[in-house]
Amino acid sequence: MARDDWDYIQIPKAVSEQIQREIDRQHLKDYGYAKPKDVVLDIIRKWLENQIGKSGPHVVEKHTFTMNIKKFKKKIKFTLFQEDITCQECKSTDCIHALTVWTDMDIRKELEEGGINLPNGDKLKKKQELLEMLN
Ligand SMILES: [Zn+2]
Repeated sequence: MARDDWDYIQIPKAVSEQIQREIDRQHLKDYGYAKPKDVVLDIIRKWLENQIGKSGPHVVEKHTFTMNIKKFKKKIKFTLFQEDITCQECKSTDCIHALTVWTDMDIRKELEEGGINLPNGDKLKKKQELLEMLN
């Protein structure tokens, strides 16, 4: 289904299918890569970050967002800065709130729809491990 807030870029079907096979083979769905577009978006974001760092003045992007997390029955304010989330209540990047935002796929999807994208892969894996240690 086409989204009107997205642009659609074509890639060869064979490449897309190969990505999907790798996603399935390595069970990458558990790490936020459900579809080939998740992988492609991640690569594009990394490329863009690299370009921003290289050319012109460095752009420091800082997002503040408030999430109403059902699990905690309250609204919590977070800051996203340089690929990490700081919980404004605990002033921590590794408290239960920040780690929940990192690892809850529904929350991540909600953030993504609001234009906030958290990295996948190793960083997500590390956050999942930290959360397991807290539980
Ligand atoms: Zn917190």
